[in-house]
Amino acid sequence: MYIIARCPSCGKLMMANTANRTRSCPNCGFRANLFNLKILARAQSSQEAVEVIQHLKEKQGNPSGEVTFKRFKR
Ligand SMILES: [Zn+2]
Repeated sequence: MYIIARCPSCGKLMMANTANRTRSCPNCGFRANLFNLKILARAQSSQEAVEVIQHLKEKQGNPSGEVTFKRFKR
């Protein structure tokens, strides 16, 4: 199984095979312990995990995950 989680170092989304204990972030190289990551989603295959990541990116649209409402302020 694969998990989708956010890198605790740089905040980018990454996927990891749960067969492994650690995963190096493809963006910053941070070595994360899978058991310490906050799991955002699970997937059965790497293909599905990629699709989930795409979906999460579209939904959040912001690497930090923070929602900003600047556009709606007067
Ligand atoms: Zn990172």
